Amino acid sequence: MTGVDVAFGGIKALTGVSLDVAPRQVLGVIGPNGAGKTTLFNVACGFVQPDAGTLHWQGRELTGLRPHQLAGLGIGRTLQGLGLFDRMSVLENVMVGADRHARSGFLSALLALPRSGTEERALRERALAVLSELGIADHAARLPTSLPYPVRKRVALARALVSEPDLLLLDEPASGLSNDEMDELGALIRGLAGRMSVMLVEHHMDLVMSVCDDIVVLDFGRVIARGGPEEVRRDPAVLAAYLGDE
Ligand code: ATP
Repeated sequence: MTGVDVAFGGIKALTGVSLDVAPRQVLGVIGPNGAGKTTLFNVACGFVQPDAGTLHWQGRELTGLRPHQLAGLGIGRTLQGLGLFDRMSVLENVMVGADRHARSGFLSALLALPRSGTEERALRERALAVLSELGIADHAARLPTSLPYPVRKRVALARALVSEPDLLLLDEPASGLSNDEMDELGALIRGLAGRMSVMLVEHHMDLVMSVCDDIVVLDFGRVIARGGPEEVRRDPAVLAAYLGDE
């Protein structure tokens, strides 16, 4: 994205934000509370339209496209609040995310529109494969509400992965996880980066520092630093921004 501005009424959430993510890179986005991280993700996946600036991905201009169009172009995300459907099984929740083409799967699921038998089978297999990859295939038939929170987080991740995104936006994937679960998550993210770019908004600095190739630091809606973990950790502007937050 280049020169992105977003304001909510009088509040400038992002000002002149430019950043890029390389293929198969894990890019961390950090910053104190209210710095604009979620807004940046919302712009990247089309939930929020910027007041100024442009969005490009894989050589295509994406500015102005809607979330389902961006999903169709390979941009997937998880939500802080998970957003799982309580009355659908884990497998059905994942299948909802599976149709990368105009997210018709999402609408179909909501409207209960029929898919052809072949489409349905292919979708089911893909969803099951992703659940296996994440080690939660045993829970496929369960309702999300009957599962522990860390498993539900994996279901939400599976739903984002099943559309085979080229860019995955992970919004606070470590919140509510134990240290061991966080280590597993770190390994998982590094594994995913072998086949896609990942952008990670996360407050757990240990995770950010251990999995990210590069880190962008936001403060009051502006990029104040970018660099490798060691560089960012020592940056005086970053230290000042975090100290000011306490
Ligand atoms: P946190 O780490 O607390 O989640 P953040 O870095 O994700 O914060 P944002 O949620 O992007 O920050 O918020 C950036 C600024 O924009 C904040 O001042 C916030 O209050 C404001 N903001 C965000 N969304 C809205 C909205 N829908 N309406 C009004 N103001 C908003």
